[in-house]
Amino acid sequence: MSRSEQEGGKVISVEAAAVDSLAEQVRGPVLTPADERYDAERAGNQTARCHRPALVVGATGPADVQAAVTFATGHGLPVAVQGTGHALSAVAAEGGVLINTSRMQGVRVKAEAGTAWIGAGVRWDQVLHETAPAGLAPLSGSAPGVGVVSYTLGGGLGLLSRRYGYAADHVRGVDVVTADGRLRQVTEASDPDLFWALRGGRDNFGVVTGIEIDLMPVTTIYGGGLFFDAGSASEVLDTYIRWTATVPDEMTSSAALISFPDVPALPPTLRGRHVVHIRIAYAADALGAGESLVAPLRALGPFTDTLGELAYADSGSIHNDPVFPGTFESGTTMLDELDADAVRTLLGLAGPHAPVPHVVELRHLGGRLARPSGTPNAVGNRDARYVLNVVSRLERADIAEIRPAHDRIFESIAPWSTGGRALNFMNGERDAEHVRSAYDAKDYRRLTEIKAVYDPENTFRLNHNIPPAVPDA
Ligand SMILES: Cc1cc2nc3c(=O)[nH]c(=O)nc-3n(C[C@H](O)[C@H](O)[C@H](O)COP(=O)(O)OP(=O)(O)OC[C@H]3O[C@@H](n4cnc5c(N)ncnc54)[C@H](O)[C@@H]3O)c2cc1C
Repeated sequence: MSRSEQEGGKVISVEAAAVDSLAEQVRGPVLTPADERYDAERAGNQTARCHRPALVVGATGPADVQAAVTFATGHGLPVAVQGTGHALSAVAAEGGVLINTSRMQGVRVKAEAGTAWIGAGVRWDQVLHETAPAGLAPLSGSAPGVGVVSYTLGGGLGLLSRRYGYAADHVRGVDVVTADGRLRQVTEASDPDLFWALRGGRDNFGVVTGIEIDLMPVTTIYGGGLFFDAGSASEVLDTYIRWTATVPDEMTSSAALISFPDVPALPPTLRGRHVVHIRIAYAADALGAGESLVAPLRALGPFTDTLGELAYADSGSIHNDPVFPGTFESGTTMLDELDADAVRTLLGLAGPHAPVPHVVELRHLGGRLARPSGTPNAVGNRDARYVLNVVSRLERADIAEIRPAHDRIFESIAPWSTGGRALNFMNGERDAEHVRSAYDAKDYRRLTEIKAVYDPENTFRLNHNIPPAVPDA
């Protein structure tokens, strides 16, 4: 007898006796599509896609993860993982096992060592508030609601990145359950290849149950945002690009073209308006220079200016990314030097007259991001100058219009692209070429070889997949 359900035109089923046996070993819930709690357990922040596993396991700790992985491999099933569901990089195809790590909480700060151990289900906002009293900050990103583990192992491009580098450059150890069901505490000393691959290769080598990261001695930054009317977008973006070539590594920033919806939840100054939003995070030992550094941008006359000293724990206010679950489609590319023609190209396709509403975001790279990690890792594309992200909400336009509109933007900006992509900003794309472009060619080959050692059957394939290398014939 099997527990099954007709969904998406396909039958998904797992033997009931096997499910019951797994449920006896696992402390968290083990749910099939027939269970009432199944939908809540598979739901994530990104609602455009939803995992549709044959089985979802709500893991409470490493032992539950081990049991779920052993069950999956024993039945020849692929494994998908979900922390917060912000990315939902792939769908747990019919017959897969989804491991939900959201119950795996726990932040242990070691203030004297300047490190913290973070459980698989933890989001940045918790870490920000637990490290601040010790005068320390994590290398978090724009959205505090994002999961620490996936963000960090996918690279982790944060608000302090130009000063300190990628979050993946500051990982001391990774606790991971590999395809053989073993829980390994992976460090540079214990397993140098796997440690290299996990930091950048993210979800391709196992289910991570926790990571130990470095914290930085940052409590306060000079930061916030400058909002300009889209009418001055050309001048603002030209100035911004020239300005990025002059700033020190302590200055991390981005510029976004945003088309705000006309909804009451927004302040009247932003409702239904097209704006350029410059985001600033200046982290230096003396913050005084921040104000003079941003003077050329302020001189352009923003209609709203929120720059000032800011507790790093409140740094989520800089981008003010949406916190509620929603549907979005996005794409990304890494860019080289930009010029006025690049700005004109972007504005032609993503300005106020764009066919569908977008957020087009240009993040400034370089600084420490351009230098190799102290302990080498798989994060690629370090020579890029900017990363361009394009995001559209499906609540505001049809997917059939969004995809071609995004394609046009990426095709038009191609002359300035390095051809690389940032893994963390890929969303839903499973194109093998896209995944490959997140890495330097030699590193990608090495990743496939390490994958062949630790996951030869590609159990962890419901992701931005790095397939195991096939030995030369
Ligand atoms: C609003 C917003 C802002 C963002 N800002 C930034 C930013 O500033 N910088 C940046 O670098 N990225 C940023 N991102 C991208 C974000 O880091 C990635 O989408 C990340 O993968 C999200 O992880 P999650 O756990 O929150 O999401 P999930 O959807 O739960 O996880 C994403 C993928 O990671 C894998 N995964 C999750 N947990 C584990 C685990 N324990 N073990 C193994 N694999 C796992 C799974 O394959 C899963 O599909 C942003 C995303 C959003 C939506």
